[in-house]
Amino acid sequence: MEKEITINGLTFVPYISRDEIREQVSRVAGEIRRDLSGCEPVFLCVLNGSFIFAADLIREVGIDDCHVCFVRYSSYEGMNSSGKIKQLIGLTEELEGKDVVIVEDIVDTGLTASNLMDDLRRRRPRSLRFATLLHKPECTKTGFIPDYVAFSIHPRFIVGYGLDLDGKARNLPDIYVIKEETEDR
Ligand code: 5GP
Repeated sequence: MEKEITINGLTFVPYISRDEIREQVSRVAGEIRRDLSGCEPVFLCVLNGSFIFAADLIREVGIDDCHVCFVRYSSYEGMNSSGKIKQLIGLTEELEGKDVVIVEDIVDTGLTASNLMDDLRRRRPRSLRFATLLHKPECTKTGFIPDYVAFSIHPRFIVGYGLDLDGKARNLPDIYVIKEETEDR
């Protein structure tokens, strides 16, 4: 794992290694497999940030009858949440009576997640669960608690493994945190 990296003039340091990610993704996948074995789950992946997590998670869950679809919200620019929720784009899958697992990169204030849960509940799935790679419980403005969490972290801006800074750094296999904020996880 490299030491420091610079993106758009900001310095980031290693935070969660690819090995730790693999381990926790595997744990979460096991929990989903346990809860949904015998079902035909629909994994509803929220682009762009979840694309790498989703690819690893869904393969690791290993339920061959699953469906995978992709939706998108964009309410985030630079390093601060705008708090605005935009519209859901791209949902063509029929969800009524289905077992749906939302796959997200990160839950920060929880506004995006709560809004998505409300929206999808109106589509009357049989069950609705929420899996996230990262959760910042201290940032919640909604009290929303995801069903599956790979890592709970303190409120810090992170990039890598799908997560970006202004569109960059999604390709990094490890997760990095902005340099000024490197105390305990
Ligand atoms: P929320 O609605 O929970 O406040 O925000 C969720 C969205 O904010 C995530 O899907 C992600 O796009 C963005 N976000 C929140 N925290 C971070 C972070 O630390 N790094 C990056 N790259 N994006 C974040």
